[in-house]
Amino acid sequence: MSKVIAELRRYADKIVKSGLVVGAGGNLSMRDGNMMYISPSGFDLQEIEDHQWVRVYIDTGEILDPLKPSSEVLMHLECFRKRSDITAVLHTHPSYSVGVSSAGHSIPSLFPDFPAMIRNIAYLDYMIPTTDVLANAVADVIHDTDVVVMRNHGVLTVGKTMKEAYFFMQITEESAKVYTIASTVGVPRILTEEECQALRNLSSEKYRSELLKDSK
Ligand code: 13P
Ligand code: ZN
Repeated sequence: MSKVIAELRRYADKIVKSGLVVGAGGNLSMRDGNMMYISPSGFDLQEIEDHQWVRVYIDTGEILDPLKPSSEVLMHLECFRKRSDITAVLHTHPSYSVGVSSAGHSIPSLFPDFPAMIRNIAYLDYMIPTTDVLANAVADVIHDTDVVVMRNHGVLTVGKTMKEAYFFMQITEESAKVYTIASTVGVPRILTEEECQALRNLSSEKYRSELLKDSK
């Protein structure tokens, strides 16, 4: 089994187990040379067999395998086309991120890992999933961010490794969750821009971020 398939399988499993998707929601892909491997459409991500990941040429969009690729295939292709520095794209439907953003809120910095690891988030208003309209909107913002929150739908993250994309996803969702809890019991104190910058400048945080870019 190729290393890419092993990685996809490992993270497909984590995504389902950590509740970032339910049912047949979400999809993930990894670059392999001039192709990507992407999850087939309509599957519980935990149930994808190694031979069922679908190969698609990144430049042309030509599909090389019999199963239908994720219906968000265009969104994934656009990410790889616009970002030569990334190898992984992840799309999930996390409850708190979707809840907070659909209520018109941004996901704020409430704990150190969030500003230290996530440089910014792009927010998109609702667009019909699976369409080229959504794929083009993601293509327009992905050069400048690793996290796209799609209101009333889900979140997309990209990473130099799948682990990085997965961490970005988890931290975004955790922040939306903490924000929801804080708003329920009181008024959340959001970290100031100065506090966020100080966290980003910590050598200990720089070390942790670099480690993530190289690790599997
Ligand atoms: P697929 O099963 O086609 O990947 O679609 C899931 C999804 O999240 C659509 O936005
Ligand atoms: Zn979706």
